[in-house]
Amino acid sequence: MSVQENLQRIETKIENALQKTNRSRSDLVLIGVTKYVSNERAQEAIDAGILDLGENRAEELIHKYENIKSNANWHFIGTLQSRKVKDVIDKVSAIHSLDRLSIVKQINKRSSKVMDCFVQVNVSGETTKHGLKKEEVIPFIESLAGYDKVRVAGLMTMAPDSDDEEEIRQVFRSLRELRDEAAAKHLAHAPCHFLSMGMSNDFQIAIEEGATHLRLGSQLVGS
Ligand SMILES: *Cc1c(COP(=O)(O)O)cnc(C)c1O
Repeated sequence: MSVQENLQRIETKIENALQKTNRSRSDLVLIGVTKYVSNERAQEAIDAGILDLGENRAEELIHKYENIKSNANWHFIGTLQSRKVKDVIDKVSAIHSLDRLSIVKQINKRSSKVMDCFVQVNVSGETTKHGLKKEEVIPFIESLAGYDKVRVAGLMTMAPDSDDEEEIRQVFRSLRELRDEAAAKHLAHAPCHFLSMGMSNDFQIAIEEGATHLRLGSQLVGS
């Protein structure tokens, strides 16, 4: 299937989910996750009109960034090692996996502009997942006040790999409530408006629960 065909199918599903909650397409950023695919396939996604792309490894992001000529926005969505921050920082428009102070310090030191970051939350509490525990999130965000290159744009999570729709929905809802709590603090460094949640298997539920940034890999560009 071409990316264009996949995109049309996905856009229909997105539209249906948006209608259920009276939201508009412009509230939503679709990030094409290219981590499994070639530069050529990533280029195909760009040509299909996807201007936000996501990678979860520094090496691969750099490789694609340097070989694909476009004005796409790159999103770093994977676990980032402190020592690699300097390699990706001037290439990305957002980091979706902020979960510790060592990364914050590196971003603050290395970035030439204010970087939009999503704090990654391990809502489900699975030991295999990265991210802060729910109760750690607000104190962590509050502790970032002095780092002027880091802006907490929102929160990010990954739902459990489950067939139980209600379980997935609860995870997304929980992230939204945490986002509301953080935003209500009106911290200058943490507007915290956005919710990066929803992948190929659960994006419709994520939209219904308020997602603003979808991260779609396998169903969009393939795996
Ligand atoms: C791989 C990945 C995705 C995309 O997953 P699909 O299920 O293929 O859509 C989204 N977010 C993160 C953090 C990922 O690592």
